[in-house]
Amino acid sequence: MEDCLFCRIIAGEIPGDFVHRGERVSAFRDINPVAPTHILIVPNKHIASNNMVEPEDEATLGRLFLTARSLAESEGIAEDGYRLILNTGPHGGQEVYHLHLHLIGGQKMQHPMG
Ligand code: AMP
Repeated sequence: MEDCLFCRIIAGEIPGDFVHRGERVSAFRDINPVAPTHILIVPNKHIASNNMVEPEDEATLGRLFLTARSLAESEGIAEDGYRLILNTGPHGGQEVYHLHLHLIGGQKMQHPMG
């Protein structure tokens, strides 16, 4: 997907502040962090959104969550806790159409449901 921002970051065509590069999954810091830790964990394969996930992606999706766990530990936020967000579609506030898990922590956050 040559016109996909995150595909281009993964391919090294656009700079990314990488904290993980794996066979299935990569992770880099969000360019506009909303908390002291704000990392985007992305499949290396282009999956536009959760609406496009297929059964064959199951292992990749599992790897996203295992990477989130590992990065939370290496960022020192595992014990205090953190938030994982996966925005989907216009109502979900998705801006970049390459599936990504936000790992956000380092401060106490308000409950998203009020
Ligand atoms: P979402 O609204 O869930 O699609 O989130 C997209 C995220 O991508 C936002 O938090 C942006 O700050 C982030 N973002 C946009 N461009 C870049 C970039 N070049 N490098 C890192 N993060 C980016």
